[in-house]
Amino acid sequence: MRLLVVEDDPDLNRQITAALEEAGYAVDRAYDGEEGHFLGDTEPYDAIVLDIGLPKKDGISVLEQWRRDGRTAPVLILTARDRWSDKVQGFDAGADDYVAKPFHMEEVLARLRALLRRATGHASSELLCGPVRLDTRAGRVTLDGNAIKLTSHEYRLLAYLMHHQGRVVSRTELVEHMYDQDFDRDSNTIEVFVGRLRKKLGSDLIQTVRGLGYVLASPGGA
Ligand code: CA
Repeated sequence: MRLLVVEDDPDLNRQITAALEEAGYAVDRAYDGEEGHFLGDTEPYDAIVLDIGLPKKDGISVLEQWRRDGRTAPVLILTARDRWSDKVQGFDAGADDYVAKPFHMEEVLARLRALLRRATGHASSELLCGPVRLDTRAGRVTLDGNAIKLTSHEYRLLAYLMHHQGRVVSRTELVEHMYDQDFDRDSNTIEVFVGRLRKKLGSDLIQTVRGLGYVLASPGGA
C-alpha cells in the first residue's frame, strides 16, 4: 500500500512519514498544497493524509479539486483542535475521516487501516486467504498459525494482493503501490518477490495469470 502525506510542518511530516514507513507502507511526502495536489493528481495512492492549513493552496481546495477531477483515494484530513468548521468543510469537500491536532500517531495509523480496508471491501483488520492470515494491525503474517518472517517488500506485495483478493493485479499496478516515487522501480523484481512468497507461503497461494498479472487464490472459492 502506498500513501501520500501532505503536511507543511517538517517535523510533523517526518514523524508521520516515519510511523507509516515503520508500519510497512510506501510513503511519498509533500510540504505545500500545490505539490500535494500534483502528486495526488498523478500518482495512484491507496490513501492520503492531508493537512488543512497549507501554504500555496489550502487543504480544502486541494481536496475539492481532486474530487472534482474524479480522484477517489480515501483522504484523512488533519484539522486544528478547535476548528469544528474545518471538519464540516473537510467532509463536505470529500474527506473520509479526520484527526484533530495534536494527535496520537496510533490513532492516525488505526484510522488509515480502517480507510484502506473499507476502500477494498474488508470489514476486519485481519485478512484471510486459506491458511494465510495477515494482521494489518501488527503487520504480521501467519501460515497455519505459524509466524512467517517477510521482508518489507514481500509484506507490501502480499498485503496489496490480500486487500485485493480475487482480482487480477498487474505487475505495473503492484509496482505503483509498493514503492514510493523516489525508489528505483523495476517490475522484474516483482517476480522475484512473488517467487519468495511462494516459497514461504505455499506454491499455489499466488497464481500467475499469463500476460495479465497475479491473483490470490481463494481456496474453496470463498
Ligand atoms: Ca499546517
